[in-house]
Amino acid sequence: MTTVTRARKHNVSAGTWSPSEVMLGRSDLTEVANHPFGENVFSGEIQKQRLSKDTLQKLQNTLAAGEALDPTLADEVAQAMKEWALERGATHFTHVFQPLTGLTAEKHDSFFEPDREGGALAGFSGKELIQGEPDASSFPTGGIRATFEARGYTAWDPTSPAFILENPNGALLCIPTAFASWTGEALDAKIPLLRSMDALSGAAIRALRLLGDTESKRVFTTVGPEQEYFLIDEQYYYERPDLIATGRTLFGAKPPKGHELDDHYFGSIPERVLACMMETERELVKLGVPVKTRHNEVAPGQYEIAPVFENSNVGSDHQQLTMQVMRNVARKYGLVCLLHEKPFAGVNGSGKHNNWSMGTDTGHNLMEPGDTPADNTNFLFFCAAVIQAVNKHQGLLRASVASIGQDHRLGANEAPPAIISIFLGAELEKVFEAIATGEGDPHTPGSYLGLGTPVLPPLPMHGGDRNRTSPFAFTGNKFEFRAVGSSASLAFPNTVLNTIVAEAIDDLADKLETETGDTAERVAAVVKESYSANRQVCFMGDNYDEAWHEEAAARGLKNLRTTPEALAEVLTAESIDAFERYNVLNKRELEARYEVWIEQYATIANTEAETGQNIAKTMILPAAIRYLRMLDDADVDAVEDEVRGLTDELIAAIRTLEAANAPVEHEGTLLAEYARDNQLEALAAVREVADRLERVVPDDLWPLPKYSEILFVR
Ligand code: ADP
Ligand code: MG
Repeated sequence: MTTVTRARKHNVSAGTWSPSEVMLGRSDLTEVANHPFGENVFSGEIQKQRLSKDTLQKLQNTLAAGEALDPTLADEVAQAMKEWALERGATHFTHVFQPLTGLTAEKHDSFFEPDREGGALAGFSGKELIQGEPDASSFPTGGIRATFEARGYTAWDPTSPAFILENPNGALLCIPTAFASWTGEALDAKIPLLRSMDALSGAAIRALRLLGDTESKRVFTTVGPEQEYFLIDEQYYYERPDLIATGRTLFGAKPPKGHELDDHYFGSIPERVLACMMETERELVKLGVPVKTRHNEVAPGQYEIAPVFENSNVGSDHQQLTMQVMRNVARKYGLVCLLHEKPFAGVNGSGKHNNWSMGTDTGHNLMEPGDTPADNTNFLFFCAAVIQAVNKHQGLLRASVASIGQDHRLGANEAPPAIISIFLGAELEKVFEAIATGEGDPHTPGSYLGLGTPVLPPLPMHGGDRNRTSPFAFTGNKFEFRAVGSSASLAFPNTVLNTIVAEAIDDLADKLETETGDTAERVAAVVKESYSANRQVCFMGDNYDEAWHEEAAARGLKNLRTTPEALAEVLTAESIDAFERYNVLNKRELEARYEVWIEQYATIANTEAETGQNIAKTMILPAAIRYLRMLDDADVDAVEDEVRGLTDELIAAIRTLEAANAPVEHEGTLLAEYARDNQLEALAAVREVADRLERVVPDDLWPLPKYSEILFVR
């Protein structure tokens, strides 16, 4: 018994940090010169300075109206972009894109090419700007490319600004791009998102015309994500092979009671963490990400960052960038940023609240109940469409947030359940109920509707009631899709939302055309019919409550607990219909996504199960055996019996896990289901015994840092 592997001394060195001096003297943002917003972005302002009037105008038309890009612009834009990038120290450029894995991909090309004289010439043509050809044969494509061309290509997305990513040793021009196969199928997350924004705009403009709006030309969907995450000391990270391999702890007993004080939420931010946040924010601001809020979250070591909302495409790109910058900057402070949905069992998980709305190019938020009767009529119409869409496609929405990490978070008594429902708030529910029943007391605005008086008084809905347990909550002027996971890309959830709401808007618009009466009366009739048919998806109660599961089942709502169950919803007839009708994704593209996602699930499940087996066998079991020998030497039978029992249990559980981890013949859905029902089950059983052992084995013999250290040393 010579090695004393762990001692509290570790924690002291883990907690030690020194400030990075990068930020010193630069934090006074009241000094204009210090304000770095958009410093590294090829922004509208920069374009104005560097492009000809004509080119600028054409480019702006593309951006504002969603018009197709004029390829003749590309050379001039490329030239300007290159010059700007070189001035800012960039040596390379890359087309960044989001393959189906949901991660970000990039391949760097140098601006410089050796010439005959041995010098170097900077080259970057319009063609290179518009189109890249990554050697992408190893990106997952769900079989799309296999039967056609072996390669895909990337296409510049002028609606998401290019930017420069700085590295201590150089800089890189990043060009947001889409990624497609030569046959035109979307191999990424951006193309469908852009298509869905078009779909929604088309449907919403059509409806607005019917509602009397003659001015709006385009409707943009908007997203403002609230990102939750953990910061832990990197020392513990590197001492945990499970965190390294899977992003979550596969073992770890809950810390003793008393540690879960509620004082962390909104509490004062630890100094090192705040320093890290400040630098992260500064980097993001330079990249044009409009970060706005930061605070402590519920769990110890858990925090949140949120930007001001942007259009869905830019917001989604910026979110990918945010996750990347958060991870990178944390390292400079000796911290590791964990974006997994459930890094610590029994401790609050992390989500990414997806605040979603639609707004016109004339500046109206369609989810904002306004001051005028016309605004309110519009609001009720579009809000009814959202309710209808969410009810009809509840399974697809659930699928859009499905991932293996989410299976630990959703329904874990702190995050919404796997059941999708809508929280409207008492005021708004009263209005819809009054419209549906045609009744209501004189104080309820709904009583005016459909009863001859086509006037809606202002709907006093701002602020007030909140329901933090709801997966999809109306929050005054937007819907907050709270079920999205912390590591997720925003692209697919928003693609789904946009598409299904477009479909519902069109459906209600069809009905609006057949109704008679003035606008308010017709809207009232349409809203009444739609809400009456879909109100079962609205739930104002506590979503964490077990009783809700029963009630939801009685209401016929879906409860898709695991990723394989949820993903099946991507390929239902209703989902395919909606996506195909709006040319967002065709059946093949959907099948490709299903295939990639289900495989991703099985692969990660397998990694977790094998990592768990390894740790249990080579770290935890040996610790138990060492302790047994100690007890044997000391002749303490009472304790020895307990430890021997636990050790035997552990060995049996490891055997079962090993058997489950043996290769099987299945693939696709069957493999995912196999992994879920066998490997993950067996892993959970190993963990259960191991966590009991953790409470018994001497602290200095335990090979893994404990939750009480990881979460509380800052
Ligand atoms: P909370 O949800 O805690 O009240 P906020 O009201 O600050 O927080 O909003 C949270 C997020 O919602 C922010 O990112 C904000 O920009 C975003 N948001 C606000 N309005 C909209 C909108 N119209 N569309 C999309 N996101 C929005
Ligand atoms: Mg919120």
